[in-house]
Amino acid sequence: MSMADLDVHLVPALDDNYVFLSHDAATGACAAVDPSQSAPVEAALDRLGWKLTHILNTHAHGDHTGGNLDLKRKYGCKVVGAGKDAGAIPGLDIPVGEGDTVQIGASAARLMETPGHTSGHVVYWFEDGQALFSGDALFSLGCGRLFGGSAAQMWASLSRLRQLPGETKVYCAHEYTLANAKFALSVDPHNQALQRRAGAVRALRAAGKPAIPSTMAEERAANPFLRADNEDLRKAAGIENLSAVEAFAEIRRRKDRF
Ligand SMILES: [Zn+2]
Repeated sequence: MSMADLDVHLVPALDDNYVFLSHDAATGACAAVDPSQSAPVEAALDRLGWKLTHILNTHAHGDHTGGNLDLKRKYGCKVVGAGKDAGAIPGLDIPVGEGDTVQIGASAARLMETPGHTSGHVVYWFEDGQALFSGDALFSLGCGRLFGGSAAQMWASLSRLRQLPGETKVYCAHEYTLANAKFALSVDPHNQALQRRAGAVRALRAAGKPAIPSTMAEERAANPFLRADNEDLRKAAGIENLSAVEAFAEIRRRKDRF
C-alpha cells in the first residue's frame, strides 16, 4: 500500500447495499459513502473506533441517503452531494458538481457527473487512493437502470469511467455481481476475461464474501455495459449493425427483461 491508499471498510446494509467507510489515519477524517441506514454504520464506526466527518452521496435515492440525517445528528458530519440534487438529498451541506474536489483528510476525491441512473448522479474518484465510488452508475459486471437519464447519457458516463486507470478499485453500491455475471455471459458468452471473473465471483459469493471491489481493468474486459462497441460482443449478441449507443440501449433493455 502506498501512503495515499485509502483504508476502505465495507458495511453491508439493507438487502444488498454496501456503505463504504473511508478513513484517513493521519487526520482521523472518515467518510461514509451512500449510507442507506445509520445503525449498521454506527456499529461499524464503534467497532473500528472511527468518527464520521463526512457523508458522500452519489445520488438521492433513499437506499443511498436514508442514514444521512441520523448520522449527521450523531456525529455532526458534513453531507456532500450533487448540487443538481440539492432539493432531494437529506441534510446536504456541500453541493458539488463536475470537476470539484472533496478533501477527506489527506485524501482528495474528484467529482465526475455521471447522469444515466438518475440525471444528477455523481461518482467520487480518489485518483491518488486508486478508488472509485461509483454508486449506481457502474456496478461490477453491470450498470444502473435508467430511471432519470437516457441511454445516451449513461453510455457517455460509462465511456468516461472506463478510461480511468486499470488499477482503480471500483466500489459500487450494490452486490448484484452474481446475477450480473449470469446476464453478462448471456450476451458475451465467448469472452474469456468474463468467464474467469464469473468463476471468481461464484467462488467469492459461495464463500459468503463480497465480490466488491473489482478493478477498472477487470470491468473494461468483462462488463458488457462497457463493451457495447466491442466487435466480439456485438457479433455474439447479434447487434453488430447498431451504433454504440443503440447497442448499449439494447443490452440495457435485455438486462431489464432478464
Ligand atoms: Zn439508485
